[in-house]
Amino acid sequence: MAEQINPFEMAQKQFDAVAKQLKLDPGVAEVLRWPMREYAFRIPVRMDDGSLKVFQGFRVQHNDARGPNKGGIRFASDETLDTVRALATWMTWKCAVADIPLGGGKGGIIVDPSTLSTREKEELCRGWVRAMWRNIGPRNDVPAPDVGTTPQMMGWMMDEYSRLVGQYTPGVVTGKPLGGGGSLGRTEATGYGVIYTVREAMKHLKMDSKKSVAAIQGFGNVAQYAAIGFVEILGGKVACVSCYDRHEKKAFTYSRKDGIDPRFLLSIVDEYGTIDKKKAQDAGYIIEDGDAWITKEADVLIPAAKEGTVNADTTKKMSSRVKLVAEGANGPSTPEADEFFKKNNIFVIPDFLCNAGGVTTSYFESVQNDMNFYWTKDEVLEKLDTKMTQAFNDVLDMAVKEKVYMRDAAYMVAISRVVKAMELRGWLNAGW
Ligand code: NAD
Repeated sequence: MAEQINPFEMAQKQFDAVAKQLKLDPGVAEVLRWPMREYAFRIPVRMDDGSLKVFQGFRVQHNDARGPNKGGIRFASDETLDTVRALATWMTWKCAVADIPLGGGKGGIIVDPSTLSTREKEELCRGWVRAMWRNIGPRNDVPAPDVGTTPQMMGWMMDEYSRLVGQYTPGVVTGKPLGGGGSLGRTEATGYGVIYTVREAMKHLKMDSKKSVAAIQGFGNVAQYAAIGFVEILGGKVACVSCYDRHEKKAFTYSRKDGIDPRFLLSIVDEYGTIDKKKAQDAGYIIEDGDAWITKEADVLIPAAKEGTVNADTTKKMSSRVKLVAEGANGPSTPEADEFFKKNNIFVIPDFLCNAGGVTTSYFESVQNDMNFYWTKDEVLEKLDTKMTQAFNDVLDMAVKEKVYMRDAAYMVAISRVVKAMELRGWLNAGW
């Protein structure tokens, strides 16, 4: 039985460990252990049945020394202030490690969005903005979609903000639909970003990408483009992907002797993300249990589904061939898995570096909104590659210089950058 973990306590513990390694001044550490600002508010919505229902909303702004806060809004029934605090803190580190000029924010509403009609969802999105509009904005805090929210919902939020401030302001939220202020390349961004960091790690480890095999967990947005990128950008082979099947309510692994064809699998995924098993079988795919992905003979593992799937149990089943783990998902590896990687000399690209392609392209979206000039998909992906390559190499340099594990090195790079920005702005002398 998994013990209940408070995510904010976890975020603070991770920070404390690195603050100690960096020998941070205790006062400076105290500034960064907590968010700078927190908003909790009530949102009344007239429901379709005529009743008035009141929802609990949040926004947490962890630190904006490096630029406007940035981070998603989650609609989830188990949302808590501590979850939002933790996610806002992690966004500060993610933006800093990717070296984009943004801080860390996160927001949410306690609600199961599947219980709402389209009109009720729109009212709730607009209500969240009416509660927060004075404290968000392109120079202030820029929300984005997250669990339970969609590009359409970001479109409604942008519209509500624009009405309230009296001018079209597309840069107030990112993750908007294409044609409604969204950026080309956002769909591919996180998966391709994973692949750019894998390419750099392979150079460091002297691995030949064309002779390498990857095993991927998941077949959602991140995993799909990581699989396509591994084949088309790196010239490697993908042994398998796994996918949750909504009909059978369990996950399955799909493999093929000569490697999977990610574009074919993408063509047989339904609108809810389930692979058509019959079509896969007819095309020669072997279908096994969802956990089988981690047992495959592979050089690279890319967990890109959910948190905690690479753990004390599953690492026991890993092939000894694995040299590299690229964390596409947020928090896929447990502390026990980290110990296993260290003991077995497996190189890890930590999640908030590996999957930073999404927030980097969100940043590109707000830059394009500000300019009112839009780049081609190739331009977006080229700029993304430059950013991800630089971010990876900054972390690798820190890991080599300080002789630390990549995850610790990523935290060290991120925290040092935020501290430096606070120093340069004089916050550590006069307050803010
Ligand atoms: P998604 O919902 O599109 O895909 C999730 C995938 O995981 C689906 O294919 C689902 O079938 C699969 N899955 C669920 N349970 C599984 C199980 N038990 N075994 C195997 N597969 C399972 O989500 P996504 O956007 O691809 O996000 C995946 C992860 O990446 C999450 O941790 C998310 O927080 C993180 N992430 C996503 C982005 C982004 O831009 N999409 C950015 C940063 C981080």
